[in-house]
Amino acid sequence: MARYTGPVCRLCRRDGMKLFLKGFRCDSTKCAIDRRPNPPGQQLSRRSKLTDYGIHLREKQKVKHYYGVLERQFRRYFEKAVHSRGNTGDALLGFLERRLDNVVYRMGFGASRSAARQLVNHGHVTVNGRRCDIASSMVNTGDVIRVKNRAKSLDLVRGVLAEHGRDVPDFLSVSAGDIPEGIVSRLPVAEDASLPIQTQLIVELCSR
Ligand code: SF4
Repeated sequence: MARYTGPVCRLCRRDGMKLFLKGFRCDSTKCAIDRRPNPPGQQLSRRSKLTDYGIHLREKQKVKHYYGVLERQFRRYFEKAVHSRGNTGDALLGFLERRLDNVVYRMGFGASRSAARQLVNHGHVTVNGRRCDIASSMVNTGDVIRVKNRAKSLDLVRGVLAEHGRDVPDFLSVSAGDIPEGIVSRLPVAEDASLPIQTQLIVELCSR
């Protein structure tokens, strides 16, 4: 599946918020948005006033950049959310939170979502004892995500766990024993995303 490969700090600066796309650097004094909070581009030393469409679009872009999904994939999640029960915006965030790369990141096994995606793509994690290298696959309640029992995989994850003591959200439980593993104790809801986003604006934009 295609992914964005350009500079990521400019995405944070464009969206006007920290999206935590660079792992350890995001919590350091080197964070680009802390040093230069203005949008990228020579002419944009301050934020210009957004149109109504621009405000809606910005909210959608924030979510896409945060989870590392491109437009076509995002639209698929939106369609699923439309056809699910309950609030569409909440369902959309719930589906994005269930992505395997996001869950591996939230468990603290990857320094960023893109690093977690690489762990999955390169076969460093198993789901319920089986290799799963599809970053967009959806986890379910009771799924056990375990680091593969081989030296390279364990070294990679242990290094991140040692350096990055990230809070694990309620819907996951993690044990960082000999072989780090985590269990999905319930399906995530919108509040678990802890993303300051107005999902209603996204729903309005995508429903036009
Ligand atoms: Fe965003 Fe992280 Fe870059 Fe800061 S360091 S601007 S949070 S990607």
